[in-house]
Amino acid sequence: MSKYVVIGAGILGASTAYHLAKSGHEVTIVDRFDEGQATDAAAGIVSPWLSQRRNKDWYYLVQNGARYYPTFINELHELGESTTGYDQVGTLALHKDERSLTKMYDRVLKKKELAPEIGELTPITNAEEIHNYFPYLSNYEYALHVSGGAKVDGRALRNATLAAAKKLGATCLFKEATFSDKLYVDGEELGYDTLIVTTGAWGNEWADALGIQPLVTHQKAQIVHLKAAEPFKQQPPVIMPPGTQYFVPNSDGTVVIGSTHEDTSEFHPYPTAHGVSSILSQAFSHGEAMKPFAVQEVRVGFRPFTANFLPSFGYIPQADNILFANGLGASGLTVGPYLGSVLSEMAQGNELDFDVNRYQLAVHD
Ligand SMILES: Cc1cc2nc3c(=O)[nH]c(=O)nc-3n(C[C@H](O)[C@H](O)[C@H](O)COP(=O)(O)OP(=O)(O)OC[C@H]3O[C@@H](n4cnc5c(N)ncnc54)[C@H](O)[C@@H]3O)c2cc1C
Repeated sequence: MSKYVVIGAGILGASTAYHLAKSGHEVTIVDRFDEGQATDAAAGIVSPWLSQRRNKDWYYLVQNGARYYPTFINELHELGESTTGYDQVGTLALHKDERSLTKMYDRVLKKKELAPEIGELTPITNAEEIHNYFPYLSNYEYALHVSGGAKVDGRALRNATLAAAKKLGATCLFKEATFSDKLYVDGEELGYDTLIVTTGAWGNEWADALGIQPLVTHQKAQIVHLKAAEPFKQQPPVIMPPGTQYFVPNSDGTVVIGSTHEDTSEFHPYPTAHGVSSILSQAFSHGEAMKPFAVQEVRVGFRPFTANFLPSFGYIPQADNILFANGLGASGLTVGPYLGSVLSEMAQGNELDFDVNRYQLAVHD
């Protein structure tokens, strides 16, 4: 049995720790719960097939990420963790005209050959049917319903994953870890056979000590939670209008509207008037019926990115027992559980069925 220490308990670290514990290893996960943890703020969508992004390496990870979810969630359920925040409610992608609907339909249908988990694709060409799914957006007559789409609440998923890891024997320390030749937690040295660093937007803090190039930047994301006066009669799908905004309705009447994409080098984990107003004004451009909803909460998180906007992971060149993984960006909830299983396999020295060199870390010359 090897001793593994994972630093960072966002979705990536939590999933890595869970998979290592499931394999019977001694696992300690350390997290200092920075305000602005991306996973904690994220309420999101798992529908990567709708994206027009063409990067094959990115698509490989997100497709596997979406495919892996049902297995992962079943495992959490079997361990008694039933509040996972994941629900395959379907996705409704809205369109202004029939041409863009047909283009999306053709594109996603093609992807379905290799990704049957996309499920049923149903083009919709009347406003009433869209209204039946979600009556608060009025400006659309065309939509594509994708039955395999899902919503996931990052906070609930992280909590369930950590709880499952603990049931399998992992230890969680809610403390700060530092590194200078050795690993210290709250000033005390902590030994390991393999160290896995999944520290999200804070990934550059150890760059010098680990001898790797600063490779992580971040975007601040604000996300608004509204609440209707009554719960919804049925669970609506995730709604994706054209553009980057999305709506995640929950049957209790809350609607989570995401999100801002603010490039910054600062770590200010607070909502701003400008952020909230830009989310709401964009939201109301799709229909005004949500204007009376209460503003319940605004969450803020920092999405971690690498220079090529791809997740980056591997052993650092200076040590064959330190794995570094980061840059999950805007699709980290989709990828996180699967990539955690990949890191766990790498950490155990097991072979993988794809070439991990495609996601190599940037390093000093
Ligand atoms: C508002 C918002 C909406 C999003 N929507 C979606 C979506 O719809 N679909 C999707 O797929 N993805 C979405 N994402 C992206 C996704 O949430 C992130 O990519 C993912 O959560 C990143 O996870 P992580 O584990 O890498 O980092 P994080 O969740 O940020 O976790 C890193 C952790 O490391 C800890 N840490 C750092 N340094 C130390 C240290 N020295 N010692 C101890 N602990 C340390 C931090 O405190 C933190 O808890 C969204 C993100 C946000 C913010």
